[in-house]
Amino acid sequence: MTTERAAPAINPWHVAQQQFDLAADKLDLDPGLRRVLREPRRELTVHFPVKMDDGSVQVYTGYRVQHNVGRGPAKGGIRYHQDVTLDEVKALAMWMTWKCAVVGIPFGGGKGGVVVDPKKLSRKEVEALTRRFTTEIEVLIGPERDIPAPDVNTNAQVMAWMMDTYSMHQGFTVPGVVTGKPISLGGSEGRTEATARGTVFTVVEAARHLGIDLGRATVVVQGFGNAGSIAATLMAKEGSKVIAVSDSSGAVHNPAGLDVARVLAWKAEHGTVSGFPGSREISNAELLGLECDVLIPAALENQISAVNAESVHARIVAEAANGPTTPEADDILHRRGIFMIPDILCNAGGVTVSYFEWVQDLNRDHWSEGIVNEKLHEIMVRSFAEVMAMAQKEGVNMRLAAYLLAVDRVASATAMRGLYP
Ligand code: NAD
Repeated sequence: MTTERAAPAINPWHVAQQQFDLAADKLDLDPGLRRVLREPRRELTVHFPVKMDDGSVQVYTGYRVQHNVGRGPAKGGIRYHQDVTLDEVKALAMWMTWKCAVVGIPFGGGKGGVVVDPKKLSRKEVEALTRRFTTEIEVLIGPERDIPAPDVNTNAQVMAWMMDTYSMHQGFTVPGVVTGKPISLGGSEGRTEATARGTVFTVVEAARHLGIDLGRATVVVQGFGNAGSIAATLMAKEGSKVIAVSDSSGAVHNPAGLDVARVLAWKAEHGTVSGFPGSREISNAELLGLECDVLIPAALENQISAVNAESVHARIVAEAANGPTTPEADDILHRRGIFMIPDILCNAGGVTVSYFEWVQDLNRDHWSEGIVNEKLHEIMVRSFAEVMAMAQKEGVNMRLAAYLLAVDRVASATAMRGLYP
């Protein structure tokens, strides 16, 4: 079973800068502004000790990067993964800046990560690691400064520990320091599902544009975590047939359709989708090449590259993951007429409901799930339409269109603020 990344040599930071350069060229961006926006504002690297269950002390490396805070506090998730690098976190932070600008929410871009495979740690060790990492990055975070959220291998429990640690140091409870918290601690209704729900809202818009009936559509999902498994569930609710899903241990395929709820139950019991009864085991590479109407990459970066873009046989690629497609692959998919919903638009539902959560926290308010989903729908549909209109006006692909909107918004805000001192 293939579990490696498709093209591990590709540096996501170089990809992010390349994507920015394409937009900056097209916008004829002022050279000074280009130099400012091309680099992160702040990069913090920390090496911190954690006492393990066996009494030994291990030292872990973590990062928090703020790419841009021109339009508001930095915002972005915390990733726990053995392959995390500073360059990956820089790329993810830059993508957050553009994402918040595409959907028009008043945040800048940030991201964090720890080089660790949390599956190899006990719950107590993950808690200790989280609390110490939070302490180390406290020089940067805060509800008005930089607000972390869940990402790969982090969840509402990790956010609760971060919020508690930060609050202990302040001496009072500060719910707005992180989003994606449990509902009982000031989390928002609908936040867990928000990334996938936003993705599906954009898929519905794309399908309408292309004349695809989602009630008859086939769907393939790579990655079966928060974004992927919920996207699969919601696509099945749209009436689509989910024919293949994967996780880091393997991929399963059934052309007649997988029962997504039963795959979820299987994963909960066995820790992987692999071995799901009635399905055929395939490799990750095969999964990405399956003929389908909608392919949803919901795992990691660089999955669709120049190496395999020719073998993608989807009509729509909906990037629930951040950075799953390289610029070279973008060109190939565009030339082949495959409709791309770029990450900074497609998965922006997560940060949008994080913004709702933060607003609720600051106001000591709690909205119903109906209100959250309605507001999310409005923002995703409007943003999709704006990106689509830009693509048509400029004759460019959806990624470049989203970048043109986003970079222009951030550049205008930066220029209006002026250069300090
Ligand atoms: P998660 O940890 O909940 O799930 C990640 C999934 O990807 C797991 O099922 C894992 O097994 C799988 N995976 C890892 N490597 C894989 C591989 N090589 N092949 C196939 N599957 C693989 O993480 P998540 O929060 O769902 O994040 C997934 C992606 O979505 C990331 O790119 C993340 O940045 C992006 N994203 C997440 C959010 C959010 O709110 N959680 C918001 C926006 C974007």
